[in-house]
Amino acid sequence: MNQSSNSPVTQQKQWDYGDTDELVCELCRHFYSLGWASGTGGGISIRDEDGIHVAPSGVQKERISPEDVFLLDARVLDRAEVLRPAANSNLRMSECTPLFMAAYRLRNAGAVLHSHSIWAMLTAHLCSHNGEPGVFRSCNLEMQKGLRGRGCFETVEVPIIPNTPRESQLTDSLTVAIEANPDVDAVIVAGHGVYVWGKDWGHAKTQAECYDYLFRAVVEAHRLGLPIHLENP
Ligand SMILES: [Zn+2]
Repeated sequence: MNQSSNSPVTQQKQWDYGDTDELVCELCRHFYSLGWASGTGGGISIRDEDGIHVAPSGVQKERISPEDVFLLDARVLDRAEVLRPAANSNLRMSECTPLFMAAYRLRNAGAVLHSHSIWAMLTAHLCSHNGEPGVFRSCNLEMQKGLRGRGCFETVEVPIIPNTPRESQLTDSLTVAIEANPDVDAVIVAGHGVYVWGKDWGHAKTQAECYDYLFRAVVEAHRLGLPIHLENP
């Protein structure tokens, strides 16, 4: 990320877009193919040495270009301080940004993903019938080993928080859920999707895929009448 140093201020600024911006676009296409970012939903952010790269809001996520990606100051985590806007001034930063910042601030995350996966939504509905706060649980599944500190022969729990009309209004309840569950790198939003983070983008992606597998496993097991633990205590 470098601003052209000798440009008169009256000229349009020239920005560099790098590998991390390309990666944001690649992952948006991948997550779209998984059904995590259809209908302009979902979001992604990745931190590197330049700052926090964030996809734009309300756009076809599978079609964004590197110059559509915002860059935020990673030294300021209690708000979004833009270092480099998207080239198109009509684009807005992701609605998820305050939620992403909570995971960066509270967990020192290297990347934070937001998925609108139907499996996350359905599993939340199974565990929290009316969209109230709840807990997702799975147990004895091999894919649990892809989650930080988890083995296959134990119980995984993920907090569920109620949805809100605007994404940014989730920030307070997501913050409370993150602080109350230090061993968990995800928060499910009822009727909506899931936020997942990791120490870097690969770790976040791996954990997001493993969580999605667990969500789907619980939903499909319920459909088949198989005894996977579903109910809140
Ligand atoms: Zn969302």
